[in-house]
Amino acid sequence: MEILVSNVYLDINDDESLLPIKIAKMLKIDQGKIGSYKVVKRALDARNKSHILYTYTVLVSLLSDKKNILDNKNVKLSDLVETIHIDEIKPEKRPVVVGFGPAGMFAALILARAGAKPIIIERGKKVEDRQKDIEEFIRTRVVNENSNMCFGEGGAGTFSDGKLFTRVNDRRVRFILNEFINHGAPKEIYYDAKPHIGSDLLPGVVRSIRKEIISLGGTFMWESTYVSFTEEKGKVKSITYIDKENNKCVIETDDVILAIGHSARDTFVNLYEQNLKMEAKDFSVGVRIEHLQEDLNKIQYGDYSSNPKLGSADYQISAQFRSLDRGVYSFCMCPGGEVANTSTSPNTVVTNGFSNHARDGINCNSAILVGIKKEDYYVNSPLDGMYFQESLERLAFNPTYPYYAPVQRVGDFLNNKVTDGLGKIKPSYKPGFYFADFNKIFPKFVSESLKEALNVFSRRFSLFDNDDAVMTGVETRSSSPIKIIRDPDTFDSSIRGIYPSGEGSSHGGGITSSALDGIKVAEAIIDKYMGRLPIKKLATKPETTETPIIDASMIKSDDKKAE
Ligand SMILES: Cc1cc2nc3c(=O)[nH]c(=O)nc-3n(C[C@H](O)[C@H](O)[C@H](O)COP(=O)(O)OP(=O)(O)OC[C@H]3O[C@@H](n4cnc5c(N)ncnc54)[C@H](O)[C@@H]3O)c2cc1C
Repeated sequence: MEILVSNVYLDINDDESLLPIKIAKMLKIDQGKIGSYKVVKRALDARNKSHILYTYTVLVSLLSDKKNILDNKNVKLSDLVETIHIDEIKPEKRPVVVGFGPAGMFAALILARAGAKPIIIERGKKVEDRQKDIEEFIRTRVVNENSNMCFGEGGAGTFSDGKLFTRVNDRRVRFILNEFINHGAPKEIYYDAKPHIGSDLLPGVVRSIRKEIISLGGTFMWESTYVSFTEEKGKVKSITYIDKENNKCVIETDDVILAIGHSARDTFVNLYEQNLKMEAKDFSVGVRIEHLQEDLNKIQYGDYSSNPKLGSADYQISAQFRSLDRGVYSFCMCPGGEVANTSTSPNTVVTNGFSNHARDGINCNSAILVGIKKEDYYVNSPLDGMYFQESLERLAFNPTYPYYAPVQRVGDFLNNKVTDGLGKIKPSYKPGFYFADFNKIFPKFVSESLKEALNVFSRRFSLFDNDDAVMTGVETRSSSPIKIIRDPDTFDSSIRGIYPSGEGSSHGGGITSSALDGIKVAEAIIDKYMGRLPIKKLATKPETTETPIIDASMIKSDDKKAE
């Protein structure tokens, strides 16, 4: 009998070999009845700063059934599924996957395992060459429009913190984590409640997945940019791309997965001009904020702050303002990380954050984002949100210091003053920064919301009670401003055989959920060739029990207090 036992607590200094003893006590059975056990989730419970614990969910194989064991509220029969079934297909024409970020990568992997030999069109370079171009940008300050922090093998998440946490409850998430591990990611991502890989390890994982796809007959076209499709009677016939020698190339195909990410603005324009159905949507903009990691560790871990077992602490914070009719929240927090430039076009400055696996940098950073509603920017086109983002990125660009980012102390931002000197927190952004006033870069409704939020956050969370914290911006691309419409069952767009997938088309957000969407789209294509009707792809069961998150008070927005 296989059961999942949750809420098994150990002190953080305890050895995990104590787990069977704890479990036997909880279940009131002899330890000898436990045949095997495997940790499937481990979360930190730091609510009591003088006694920080790990709480575990453990898959236990019992050698003999015990009557009424399922009456224990911490026990349930195991419903863990870690593999997915992939049928073999032989489509007449090879499917094309545009973009090799998490969505394209997992779609291509599934199609390759199905025997469909996908062709992958990627505007950027292989991850090793891409890495050199990113370093070159910091040195020369000339943007490579196809090879940068967003474009190239592995997509936007390759040089990131590699956080894999998702709130989506889907059995395929375990499959994704296992694939990352099989391709070189650290094995803790399987059970950590907040798994992450890190910028130093992600390129190796991505390279290994590429190699498997090639070994299964997949073909990669690097430095090749998709530009358009042709269709007949509402069904795709071919796609055109421009290769690295600037040749126009055509591939005839019945299946095109568009996994282009949220920064492919030229491609969005091309798709719009070809009347692919899309709509404008809400998104967020704001800044990156940096604090000292050491200060955060002290707040979150108290007496344990120097315990090496704990690693770098994180946080989440948000507030909803009824008076401003919008929310402000932390996003993509990178413990021990750095702020990066993620521009994909000339004369723009865009920020994001990344960290290495060890998360051992001096600062921690997080985006602080203000919700933008469609009515804030919409004129008459689904592309208007994209143009709004771009206008802010251009305002952040200073021709006197190309690609340096605007920076301001929080205290100066609150007092509408350009910063003239830093305190103990230094911006980590490369290639450099200039002092500016974000009140002049953002529209008033954004800067006023940020100010309200920073004031509320400083009362709720002492990390934010620090005028020396530095803001770097602008952070405009936390999600796509566009949704490409698709059939909820077959995943076809308004042109049959074109399947939008991942973050760019707003069918994913973040590494894991975009990868998940890539899998679902590949499965839909397999279903089509297997002659199956679109059966419900969302076989979702809650995975395990809830996992306490560090300092739960930090993650709840409290409307009353915020107002
Ligand atoms: C610096 C940074 C840090 C991040 N940190 C995290 C994190 O810690 N955790 C997390 O979950 N998420 C993080 N994200 C977000 C995450 O990277 C994205 O959500 C995710 O990569 C989206 O996956 P995707 O496959 O949909 O698109 P992308 O990863 O954006 O991939 C799209 C790919 O398509 C290619 N492409 C675009 N247009 C064309 C075209 N016309 N022809 C051919 N190829 C094209 C691009 O070159 C790119 O490789 C981070 C993002 C950045 C930039």
